[in-house]
Amino acid sequence: MNKRLSSHKATMEIVKKHEFRFNKSLGQNFLIDDNIIDKIISGSGVKVGDKVIEVGPGIGTLTREIAARADKVMAVEIDKNLIPILKDTMEDYENFNVVNEDILKADIKGLVEEHLDGGPVKLIANLPYYITTPIIMRFLEEGINVTDIVVMVQKEVAERMNASPGGKDFGALSVAVQYYCDTEIIAKVPRHMFVPQPNVDSIVIALRVRGEKKYDVDNEELFFKVVKAAFGQRRKTLLNSISSMGVLDKKVVSQILLESKIDEKRRGETLSLDEFAVLSNNINRAVK
Ligand code: SAM
Repeated sequence: MNKRLSSHKATMEIVKKHEFRFNKSLGQNFLIDDNIIDKIISGSGVKVGDKVIEVGPGIGTLTREIAARADKVMAVEIDKNLIPILKDTMEDYENFNVVNEDILKADIKGLVEEHLDGGPVKLIANLPYYITTPIIMRFLEEGINVTDIVVMVQKEVAERMNASPGGKDFGALSVAVQYYCDTEIIAKVPRHMFVPQPNVDSIVIALRVRGEKKYDVDNEELFFKVVKAAFGQRRKTLLNSISSMGVLDKKVVSQILLESKIDEKRRGETLSLDEFAVLSNNINRAVK
């Protein structure tokens, strides 16, 4: 096989040949647009020497283009019915292997160690939308040696990851992602570029994982607790939301906000990551 699979016709030929039935609950919407595949590939900068992990290869449409450029590709696919199809569509690529597992349960670090020489790796994927955030957070929080995450996600999720303080989309997810990464929107993808067509539009976003820490945070666990509290009830002022964490008296919280040069009447969504860092460091000192 030496043709691209990214057309409606080529995809449906494979589907029919293998009598494959789409499983809606697994977020199976296969990409059928060459131009978007090219944007994902160029946005990832995948090249000789790279080791890539792909979550949810489907019938291998994106996988083939990655395998043609990278040193090694390991895909993790939950649907056992897709494994024989991938054997067929990926038969030309000796640098490819697939693991039939649920990415949320898989030992990702162990798999990277076993199949991708421990990394560094790039994660390139058209993600199953029902679990986008947990997948991305596993890669960011579990110390996996990942440099770039280039993924297709639901439009609204990409907008939240890419949002700036003060905007309506800025929330706990924006802070969590931007704590580790610089974000870049690669492409907007309308729903008709998939089969079957989903009922949402999508965006390809690149998360460039920083090699060095950008924010000076003394206690990461507390930092994320403060973020969660600040966004927990968006209507509340910071004085009230931080007080409701229950770790400090309201008077002390007021004093800490003053020390942090943050007006106590502001709301969580207006704080920059630097301000969250200062605030959580001051709270950390006060609770010790
Ligand atoms: N990469 C293909 C493409 O671009 O056409 C398919 C993408 S489709 C949006 C999502 C894929 O993720 C499907 O192949 C689905 O079976 C797989 N998937 C869903 N849940 C998964 C999970 N928990 N672990 C691994 N793969 C999963």
